[in-house]
Formats: sequence, structure tokens, C-alpha cells
Amino acid sequence: MFIHRTVLAAMLSLLSVCAQARDYRYSDAHLHYVDFFQESEGMKPLLQAMDVGRIDHVLISGIPVAKKWHEDEPKRPRYYAGDDGGAYWYSATDVLVADAVKRLPAEQRKRFHPFLSGFNPNDKNSDAHIRRMLELDPGLWQGIGEVFTRHDDLTALTYGETPRANNEAMTRIYHLAAEYDLPVLLHSNITSKRERNPLYLAELEEPLRNHPHVRFIWAHAGTSMEIHRHQQKLDFLLPTLERLLGEYPNLYVDLSWSVLQPYLLDADGKPDARWIELVSRYPTRFMLGSDVVGKFDGLREAMQAFVPFLDALPEKVARGVARDNFLAVLPRQRQAAVRD
Ligand SMILES: [Zn+2]
Repeated sequence: MFIHRTVLAAMLSLLSVCAQARDYRYSDAHLHYVDFFQESEGMKPLLQAMDVGRIDHVLISGIPVAKKWHEDEPKRPRYYAGDDGGAYWYSATDVLVADAVKRLPAEQRKRFHPFLSGFNPNDKNSDAHIRRMLELDPGLWQGIGEVFTRHDDLTALTYGETPRANNEAMTRIYHLAAEYDLPVLLHSNITSKRERNPLYLAELEEPLRNHPHVRFIWAHAGTSMEIHRHQQKLDFLLPTLERLLGEYPNLYVDLSWSVLQPYLLDADGKPDARWIELVSRYPTRFMLGSDVVGKFDGLREAMQAFVPFLDALPEKVARGVARDNFLAVLPRQRQAAVRD
């Protein structure tokens, strides 16, 4: 009996070790250093939040538009959707990111992967601007984005025409991305707030097909909180992703917040078996992101929210999704620097 009890206790403690064994380390593949007013808490709180959240690496990007405090608005808006004031393309966002990263000591700097975002995706001169920025700071920028194309309410508030992921200006940018081996983080909603079909999918699919040497990270897998508010779960999202991942090996998927629920987890927080199957079938193609904007105290929670889903994946796949898949899309010459 005594032996039995000992064996039982040993088994129980082994079980609890197993349950806790998956102490994930993370990469945040979708982080904005500033908010829609180009303000940030700064690097110190960000570093603290990364350490608390076990986040080894981040994709650090600005915000490509600035929201105006319009003359007619009595109160300063707190978010882009706060009032009817417009937003305009804002290149200085990259200056803020570059400065913050360049001030870091070398040991910390290698955890940051700056993506350049401050350009107008409707302007066929934007590739020339990006090239100038790349040449101004050789080796600093490790990707392009987040590029805002179809972005529901934000699109409507941004001055000028609606950007498409397949327009001529973006095509020129993809050629530049291929030349510099830069991945592109692209926000291109799969549909509008009201249409229950993949209305804008062709705009994403055309560059996937035409630029096989560019690694595309599809922000939120084409979903948004606004789409959910209007039509809840899109039943065509999963089959569309299945098809795209099979056809385009250059497609990577950011699973950040609007994908987590209601797709990866159901209303009770249980992992969806079909998504587990999809991610397991394409184990190198998915990554996590927080999509925080300028404030960083929610970083740990943002990553922890994925744990029930990660725990349902095979362990090796889960560790790739949590941390390593993001590192593997960075420019090839960068990858050696982050291997440890
Ligand atoms: Zn974002």
C-alpha cells in the first residue's frame, strides 16, 4: 500500500510537471510602438512587458496614419474610431521607431525587428521613398508593414482613395521587398463589414500568386473586430485559408486578437479542432501577435490568451507558432543573428 501511494504521488507530480512543461517563449509578430496619435509609453515599459511576458522577440512597427484632432471636435479623440476626424499617411512614424531601436544596447536590440510602414500605399512613388529609407539606415529595417489596405472604418476615415493590396503602387513595393528579402505584414480585410462572402480576397490573392519570392504575413487572417461586430463568425474563413496555404507557400498568417476568438477558441474558451488540424498541417505558417498600439501593459495577457490553443497543438508545432515561425520569415541574413 505504502509503495502504491509513493508511486501514485510520483505519477501525480510527473503529471503536473507535464502539464506545466510547456512554458512557452514568444515572438510578438504584430506590435505597434506608437498609437494612432503617434504616441508611445516608450521603450522601458515595452522591455519590462516583454520580460514579464516571456517575449523574446517583437516585430516593431509604427502606425502608418495619424488621426487628426479636427477643428470641429471639442474633445481630443482617444482612438481612430473616436469621432469623424480623418487620418492621414504619416511617414515620421518610422523615424520614431528607428530612434527607439537605435538607442537600445546591442543585447536588447537583437530582440527587435523593425518593420517600415510610413508610406502611402496608393502612391507609385512610395517604393522610391522606401528605398531611400532602407539606404539611410542600412540593415535596420527587417520588413515592410503593417501596410493598411482594406481596414473597414479606418479606410473610410483615411484621406484619399482606398488602398488595395493589388494596386500598382503596392506591386512596385513587392518588387522592392523581393530585392531586399523583406517580409511584408499586410492588413487586407477579407470582406467588408456587411458582405458575407470573401469580397476582397482577390486583392490579396493576386500578389500572393504574382510575387512568390515575397513572404506575406496576413494580419489577423483578414478578419477584424468590426467585421465580427456586424456578422460574427465568417464560415468561409477556414476553407479559404486551407486553400490559400495549399496554393501559396509564401503565405504566413498572423493569428492576433480577432482570430483568437471566435476562430481558434470557441465561446467557452475551448480550442476548435478544425483550426488545430489546419495549424498542425501547416506548422511553420502561423504566428502570434498582440497588435498593441503604444501601450504595453497588456502584452503578457495577449500572449497568455493563446495558451489553451497552443496546448492543444503538438508541442513542437506549438513552440514554432509561439516563437520560432516569426523568426524564420525574417530576412535570411538576419536569421543567423537570432539563432540561439
Ligand atoms: Zn496592427
